[in-house]
Amino acid sequence: MPEIFVSKLKQATASHKDREISLDTLDDRICFRDEDEDSYPDLFDSDMDTTATGIWKVIVVDDEPDVHLATKLALKRFRFEGKPLVFISAYSGEECKNLITHAHPDVALILLDVVMESNDAGLKVVKFIREELNNQQVRIILRTGHPGEAPEESVILKYDINDYKFKVELTRQKLLTTVVAALRSYRDITTIAQQKIELANTLVHLQRTQLQLEEHMQTLETKIAERTAELETANRKLLELATMDGLTGVANRRRFDEYWQQQWQMLAQQQKPLSLILADVDHFKLYNDHYGHLLGDECLRQVARSMSLILNRPTDLVARYGGEEFALILPYTSMEGAIKVADAIAAEIHRLALPHATSTVSDRITLSLGIACIVPQYTTSLQTPISNADIALYKAKQSGRNCYCISE
Ligand SMILES: [Mg+2]
Repeated sequence: MPEIFVSKLKQATASHKDREISLDTLDDRICFRDEDEDSYPDLFDSDMDTTATGIWKVIVVDDEPDVHLATKLALKRFRFEGKPLVFISAYSGEECKNLITHAHPDVALILLDVVMESNDAGLKVVKFIREELNNQQVRIILRTGHPGEAPEESVILKYDINDYKFKVELTRQKLLTTVVAALRSYRDITTIAQQKIELANTLVHLQRTQLQLEEHMQTLETKIAERTAELETANRKLLELATMDGLTGVANRRRFDEYWQQQWQMLAQQQKPLSLILADVDHFKLYNDHYGHLLGDECLRQVARSMSLILNRPTDLVARYGGEEFALILPYTSMEGAIKVADAIAAEIHRLALPHATSTVSDRITLSLGIACIVPQYTTSLQTPISNADIALYKAKQSGRNCYCISE
């Protein structure tokens, strides 16, 4: 124990015959003890539950056992914010390092001697706690009995030391004041640290929720896009079905009417020729009677496919006009061009060579064709070329079939 501290202790002690100062009368006097430690069994570490919650852990670090007991005596019954102080003793800097690293990282306050195994052992402990353990929460009060070993101001600032006391100042009242200030500071620091953790957790939770929300939105958008695409496909199919002949796959009569009207109006405006070919399979009733309806259907499919092969301009249209009759709309096509198309179709049907044993005109399937061509006028009915082509077709049939006639 430093000399000056010891002499003060002795002065205080001398004034009491029984050499013991009760805690109640210590108030502003120097704490001390020179009795056996056994007189204060409840102050020893072995009797204190350092694992309990609702306590303030205080490590007393000093190479002089008397200082430990004096400190504990002074603070024995003290409670801060309703919680008691539990003392842990270390008698060297190294022991303190070990305790705070392993057994007691949650210590609130260290009352730390400066001079122990070396002149700066206490300062090394501070450096270790702040820099190596990165523990910025624990409060540290430095105490020294060697005024000459006082740490420099820069050390106090750098290592966040709460207080610095000479041991000669160690009255109970002053110690209490210092400890209260340090514990209050520790409470605030840990509360802020806890709030920071809670904030960080909330932030993580929020970010996770946002991410889930974004993923959910993404999934939803993908699903909507898929459903939209499915709907579009379904609509397209529906439209195709509504405009397609189910047996042959070419346009149906409804589509023919619609397209004819469109082309009529457009070419009337442009004053360009519009041709129409009506084609009829010769003696198709006899074909059906002889080969049956299944082969009859197949025959119509093949005739339709041949016509589609010949008409390769995107504006041309092959339609099933009814029964075994087909209609070909040829926009921007003169009579001369329409005749070429009729010839090409007849040749293609001939090349198909679908046998027709009961036909009176050939041994294979043939067509009769009627051709009409007109430059549409707003004053003329759009039915006129259809009637004309029909008359021409009738003429072709009258002329012995397997030929075409034109409407003059
Ligand atoms: Mg010392």
